[in-house]
Amino acid sequence: SVKENVDTKEHQLTVALRVRPINEAELADEAKIIVHRIDQKMVVLMDPVNDPNNILRANRSREKMYMFDVAFDSKATQEDVYISTTKELIDGVIAGYNATVFAYGATGAGKTYTMLGTDSDPGIYVRTLNDLFKGIEASSDRKIYQVSMSYLEIYNEMIRDLLNPTIGFLDLREDAKGGIQIAGITEFSTSNADEIMLLLLKGNRERTQEPTGANSASSRSHAVLQVTVRQRSRVHAIHDELHFGRLFLIDLAGSERAAQTQNRGKRMMEGAHINRSLLALGNCINALSDRGGRANYINYRDSKLTRLLKDSLGGNSRTVMIAHISPASTSFEESRNTLTYADRAK
Ligand code: ADP
Ligand code: MG
Repeated sequence: SVKENVDTKEHQLTVALRVRPINEAELADEAKIIVHRIDQKMVVLMDPVNDPNNILRANRSREKMYMFDVAFDSKATQEDVYISTTKELIDGVIAGYNATVFAYGATGAGKTYTMLGTDSDPGIYVRTLNDLFKGIEASSDRKIYQVSMSYLEIYNEMIRDLLNPTIGFLDLREDAKGGIQIAGITEFSTSNADEIMLLLLKGNRERTQEPTGANSASSRSHAVLQVTVRQRSRVHAIHDELHFGRLFLIDLAGSERAAQTQNRGKRMMEGAHINRSLLALGNCINALSDRGGRANYINYRDSKLTRLLKDSLGGNSRTVMIAHISPASTSFEESRNTLTYADRAK
């Protein structure tokens, strides 16, 4: 049965912000830093329009504050971000609950860095899997756990297996219990962290990336790491699966608006699909964050992404959104859009 009525409890949704360091290209453009962290929850965005060359003297009335459950500035480490957003979900997933972590933001804002990271400084994917295996090893209950992972992309409302990209597009199916499954997806099982990182880096290179007018490395696909923890009792028969908990770790497509790209045709089509998935997701997130107590109905069927997440948004599931921005004046419009989208105060 489809649970469309979302139980709105505040702790279900955590919204974080990560501001990446300014980079060489931005400095070469004479960009100024216009995002400042005020405290653990607040950042201020300065509007560079008034005085692009001396942001410190910008009109204070053009500053705007935004609030989050937690705000990270450019000094935050991969571990800081992991611990404050995702680590606390792990026990729940082992116990059989679902959870979803999203990286949101414009292309170049740092989403892939947070989720995948680099060989020398891995992100949330590998840290989560490591702690999941540790947690299972440490658990002293009389259960047998099996962990598997799949890595896929939703591009143009189609699903591709990033661990087996030649297989073609995959379909979503409902299993006998009404749970959503991806038919034919590779489910990989290993607890070797190095092996996992290699696999994910390789999968990431399979993501659909084509140049657009807005950004030559624009990523138009949503990358989804799906981690499933199945558990069964040691004292029952093998087919007696007690629960499964599922964790989705999602590196969303760039949130820059399709209208900002100068493209037509195929690019516009893709933009429409990306906006459809992001819009549908935005509606779900809004429903989760609404404190008004009125009933919130989510139409999961609006996009592939929300259909896939049907059992993992709302209800007993926990959701974490990590919004990403550049601190540079040259990204003002995109940063303002992202901050407005993710602001916790509204
Ligand atoms: P996105 O996935 O949002 O398009 P990326 O994660 O690819 O953006 O980040 C763009 C560039 O900035 C990459 O070269 C990445 O390594 C770098 N970067 C992003 N965030 C950070 C960070 N917090 N610290 C250091 N470098 C970062
Ligand atoms: Mg990326």
